[in-house]
Amino acid sequence: MDWEIYRTLMKSHLGEALYRHSLGVAETAADLAVRYRVDRHRAYLAGLLHDYGKVFSPAELRCKAEQLGLCLDRVSLEEKGLLHAPVGAALLPVEVGVADTAVIGAVAYHTTGRARMSLLEKVIYLADMIEPGRDFEGVEKLRQSASDDLDRALLAAVDHTIDRVLRRGRLLHPRSVQFRNCLLTSLGKNGG
Ligand code: FE
Ligand code: FE
Repeated sequence: MDWEIYRTLMKSHLGEALYRHSLGVAETAADLAVRYRVDRHRAYLAGLLHDYGKVFSPAELRCKAEQLGLCLDRVSLEEKGLLHAPVGAALLPVEVGVADTAVIGAVAYHTTGRARMSLLEKVIYLADMIEPGRDFEGVEKLRQSASDDLDRALLAAVDHTIDRVLRRGRLLHPRSVQFRNCLLTSLGKNGG
């Protein structure tokens, strides 16, 4: 795969800071992919592209969603931190020529997560939170657990995200709750 084409494109599309974040996610995702036996190239590409929609304003994103005929839920439409994921994913085939549905899914669900996520989707969700540019309390512990146990690290990651959403008084997406419940169930922590 010719990475240079995608990197050049993303660098001019995203601008310096967001490009650096995306490269960090791509490289972290590629490392996690090796650890958890996911296609490394797909992981790198999904990481590089995951914030494609982030450069657009909420109004632009809503307009693009309408043009694309996307049927989005109310929380995704109202919460500005969420909308760039599904719209960015839907723009990839049209604007970047990426048609890999696994990559598109990983981009679409990188902000909320969802129940029964694919391994690639999990890797991107986690890489987005632990890439080297991230700096929040607990990130180091999260990085360590990422290489030990994917689902356990994801549970800590989604807990962190939900906690932040609650503290900021923002809308919590039901898919994040489903994602968390799914992880708890598969980790056997649901008391069952
Ligand atoms: Fe994002
Ligand atoms: Fe991101």
